[in-house]
Amino acid sequence: MERTILHADLNNFFASVECLEHAELKDKPVAVAGDAKARHGIILAKNELAKLFGIKTAMPLWQAQQLCPDLICVPPHYDLYMKYSGFTREICQRYTSQVESFGPDECWMDVSGSSALFGNGKTIADDLRKRIFHELGLTVSVGVSFNKVFAKLGSDMKKPDATTVIPKESFRDIVWPLPVDAMLYVGRSARERFRSVGIATIGDLAAVTPEFLRRSLGKTGTMLWRFANGLDDAPVAETADNIPIKSIGNSTTAYRNLITEEDCRIVLYALSEMVSHRLKSHGLLCATVQISIRLSNLSSFERQCRLTAPTQSALDIFDAGWQLLCQHRNDAPIRALGIRGCQLSSAFNRQLSFFDSDNHKNRALEEAMDEIRGRFGNHTIKRAVMLKDPKLTNFKPKDHSVFLQK
Ligand SMILES: [Mg+2]
Repeated sequence: MERTILHADLNNFFASVECLEHAELKDKPVAVAGDAKARHGIILAKNELAKLFGIKTAMPLWQAQQLCPDLICVPPHYDLYMKYSGFTREICQRYTSQVESFGPDECWMDVSGSSALFGNGKTIADDLRKRIFHELGLTVSVGVSFNKVFAKLGSDMKKPDATTVIPKESFRDIVWPLPVDAMLYVGRSARERFRSVGIATIGDLAAVTPEFLRRSLGKTGTMLWRFANGLDDAPVAETADNIPIKSIGNSTTAYRNLITEEDCRIVLYALSEMVSHRLKSHGLLCATVQISIRLSNLSSFERQCRLTAPTQSALDIFDAGWQLLCQHRNDAPIRALGIRGCQLSSAFNRQLSFFDSDNHKNRALEEAMDEIRGRFGNHTIKRAVMLKDPKLTNFKPKDHSVFLQK
């Protein structure tokens, strides 16, 4: 059966999110850039207006400012981008269970089985664009084709806010005249190698024998030849299989040893809140909690336990960590403490699990605290117990998140 694959690419993603969050930036040239004070800052993203001045991704900041003296540069807010990325995925998942992320701003969707409900590929792509714009205010370019490589190519062809269809019957007319490096996985070095043997377009690549490419580029050569001929048959992963983050954890070395039960509670709670906050901002739940402890004699160990239900609640994470700590600590003074949520899954299908367990009151409290922090900032509200020794929780946590390599 011929497949229908979409590739959705959010336009100017980081810069678009910044303009959404700061209405005053909307009609100005805006770039998201690394630290300007550090002087080695580079452009990470730019909006359409900044593009008109010739500003490009990865350009040094000083050069961008020369091209556009009025350029407004904002630092990146990755938690925010992940939040919008999650919202976008959630919309994509309404059409199919196969949504595979390719970075925070791109994903493939296999909608082959969705036509009875939602129409053909182009209809779904147009509908998806409308919904993402209507619900989030972001624009997206969508490619529609019969395999992943051409769907991705299609999403690059018209920007912003457009649908490009590359049908099986006419892909040769659309794809083959394009330069070879328009195709996924053809980087600069492959492009140069192709050029040296007279291959400039995707059509040139399709026309040579696969043996010729295998000899010069090995397995990759054969793969690229198949791509150019529309023979990519890689499946779009199921949504549940493609969470890019493996675990989220924070730790701290306290300014003094943690001696009493209360010391440990305070620090563990503060760390649990950070992990919880980050799980929530990524739209993730953890099924396992792991603590790491370094004692004052510098010996260290880790312990973990499985939760009865996946969670993103600070209270659940703290409770699990606290039980582990009590079981394994033996009253020795603690120098450093860490907690981590592992075995992550998407929270979007399980929003209700937040209220599953019996602890309704505490959960309602946690939700209210999240709301206040969301509106007024992280430090506006604290549990009273943390005020006893504010220095204990006034720390910069170390980040122990583990990401899968792409
Ligand atoms: Mg993009």
